[in-house]
Amino acid sequence: MDLIFNADELAYRDEVREFLATKLPTEIRDRVRLASSYVPRADTVRWQNILHTQGWGAPNWPVEFGGTGWNAVQKYIYDAEYQAADCPRQSPFGISMVGPVICAFGTPEQKKQHLGPIISGERLWCQGYSEPGSGSDLASLQTKAVPQGDDYVVNGSKIWTSHAHHADWMFCLVRTDPDAKPQRGISFLLMDMTTPGITVKPIISIDGHHYLNEVFFDDVRVPISNRIGEENKGWTYAKFLLGHERTGIAGVGKSKRKVERLKAIAGIEQESGESLLALPAFRSRIAQAEVALQALEFTSLRILSQEKAGQPPGPEASTLKINGTEVEQTLNELMIEAIGHYAAPYPADAQDPERNEPPIGPAHGVGLMQERLLRRAATIYGGSNEIQRNIIAKAVLEL
Ligand SMILES: Cc1cc2nc3c(=O)[nH]c(=O)nc-3n(C[C@H](O)[C@H](O)[C@H](O)COP(=O)(O)OP(=O)(O)OC[C@H]3O[C@@H](n4cnc5c(N)ncnc54)[C@H](O)[C@@H]3O)c2cc1C
Repeated sequence: MDLIFNADELAYRDEVREFLATKLPTEIRDRVRLASSYVPRADTVRWQNILHTQGWGAPNWPVEFGGTGWNAVQKYIYDAEYQAADCPRQSPFGISMVGPVICAFGTPEQKKQHLGPIISGERLWCQGYSEPGSGSDLASLQTKAVPQGDDYVVNGSKIWTSHAHHADWMFCLVRTDPDAKPQRGISFLLMDMTTPGITVKPIISIDGHHYLNEVFFDDVRVPISNRIGEENKGWTYAKFLLGHERTGIAGVGKSKRKVERLKAIAGIEQESGESLLALPAFRSRIAQAEVALQALEFTSLRILSQEKAGQPPGPEASTLKINGTEVEQTLNELMIEAIGHYAAPYPADAQDPERNEPPIGPAHGVGLMQERLLRRAATIYGGSNEIQRNIIAKAVLEL
């Protein structure tokens, strides 16, 4: 296993670090530092545009469509630096998910229509996969699309659709052959969210914010030319997309930032006249989380080292998802414990730049409860951790 970065890789790391330190607008960085999930659409678009101007708008895309051509090590370094620099998460649905699908399977017209607006940040997307009753068992989805002339007529509904209320387009799985085996009767459609018959209804999360939605389709006419690839082969494209969804999933850089923040808070907060950082019981829990994070980093590097040697990542990606999300949740919980009772009075707009009241409790506690509540879902979305454990049981342990 070769885990040591060479001189070129270190020089590249410095270049990335310098760019992120100087080009990320301070107000966006501050907002992300307080609550990574609370980034207004305008900030996401502005930052995407800055990355695009640098030529780094879509690192995972093929070079001919605007990708960077970075190798696996460079992508790893970039992801780690990106997360550690408090950059807002790029809207994943266009850049990381449907973009690579369009690059690989789209028609020339689809590429022309969509890739430019995705990479520049001007067109945002959402992911219409899950339905009531079809989450983990996605292949059982029931939203149906029936061909009629040049269109499909789509009826049904989706749920948990993140950011559908901001999205301009949705990529969507629909059933086009109800008689085929579940995976074989699905097609992959691109839908303009302004099409008549689409209704978006909010779901307010436990943290009081609106990210999630239900989306209803009532005789929605979608041109057949908006289908990706072949009819009834949508599962193939959906699986290709899920592979891209899991890149950078370990979140090592982000969790490292959280360890720093946790230590800073624990250094200020006191119990019986001593800082929490000096109390062996609390200190050892921070150490345990940090050790778990280091183990995660080394697992990521081991997978990277295999990739460098030409071996594509396999089911080990599931271990990154499980451990990455569990470490993140532990760190969030420790920060809440460190703040103590001031974590409880939680105004949902605490980190809204428009808010003109001072925070309740210390400034270093702002955003912690929102992050804790929102990231409770991290072990559910992107394929729940139980499902990831099933994958490991089957594909690695051969149970
Ligand atoms: C914050 C958030 C954002 C989301 N964003 C999107 C989005 O943008 N687009 C989208 O399409 N979907 C989205 N989802 C949906 C997400 O993909 C599903 O919630 C997830 O796949 C789980 O499906 P489910 O909610 O139907 O739960 P279920 O599949 O009903 O599972 C319920 C519980 O049973 C467990 N379980 C299920 N099957 C098994 C099994 N075979 N073995 C062991 N345990 C099992 C699960 O792990 C879970 O704990 C989002 C979800 C959340 C929470």
